[in-house]
Amino acid sequence: MRLYNITAFPNIRQPDNQIKLAYSWLNLCRFLGKQRKPVAKIRQGAWSPASFDGKRSNKNVTSLSCLVLDIDDSITFGQANVTLMVTNVRSYLHTSVSHDNNNDRFRIVIPTAEKIPGDEWTYYYLALESWFDETFGAFENATFDRSAKDAARAYYVGYHTMHFAEDFIEGKILDWKGRAQDAKEKYMIEMAKRRKEQEERLALAEKKKQNLGKHISLSDKRKYMYEALRNDSSERRKFALWLGATIVGGESCERAISWNCPRCGLDDCTYFYIDPTRSSSAYCNHKKTCNWRDSVGYLAEINCYSL
Ligand SMILES: [Zn+2]
Repeated sequence: MRLYNITAFPNIRQPDNQIKLAYSWLNLCRFLGKQRKPVAKIRQGAWSPASFDGKRSNKNVTSLSCLVLDIDDSITFGQANVTLMVTNVRSYLHTSVSHDNNNDRFRIVIPTAEKIPGDEWTYYYLALESWFDETFGAFENATFDRSAKDAARAYYVGYHTMHFAEDFIEGKILDWKGRAQDAKEKYMIEMAKRRKEQEERLALAEKKKQNLGKHISLSDKRKYMYEALRNDSSERRKFALWLGATIVGGESCERAISWNCPRCGLDDCTYFYIDPTRSSSAYCNHKKTCNWRDSVGYLAEINCYSL
């Protein structure tokens, strides 16, 4: 029998304090929907479908046992329930503590036939996104909380309020492994296409610069810097080091972090990828308070950088 490994966190602020659990599908649903004593949010425990080697963080995820969608008012519990039944997808739904007559807040937990390897998570997540869009696309504004893309994401375990609802959909376990494989192929093709476009843009910019030779104007120099920082990993790395940024992560995920955000001034949530293929912009991840985003060229210009 397939067992679902999950990690329970008695306190979400203590990423080292973990209880490793393994349940059958039915018992996992029972665990998630269990009646618990109502407590303040700060004292609510949490769970994650991931197993960790070390504290709770994306890079320590070794595998995941199921897919979880957090829905906040974009579709109703009833709509989700009926849709999953009609499409025959094995799943478990339960409402969150903040669910009531006016707010549809609930979770959809979907089992996979096999463990999801931590390093394949990105593709399972992409597969989950396209499945969600194709399944719930008919409902206007249907969406789910995209912070689920973090492999290490943890979810509060709630207690029953007077509005508590849950449902088990028997259905079939979808071929998530195959879907993730398809998503991976699509992703690789897209990345190859973008890399080719980067090379073409860079070659064009260099040719232009050469044609201008010594008579290159300030504005042409500036344009060239924007193009180089948009398309060239080595120029982005040079700039990151000049900026005093820290470079973290391996291979295609290398990011320059800890530089000051031009809008909020903080440096604890800023990043840009060294390899621009996945995303070429620079970001401040203080989503609610700042959410600054612009090109790396602009970041360079306001820091008075020149090539
Ligand atoms: Zn900011």
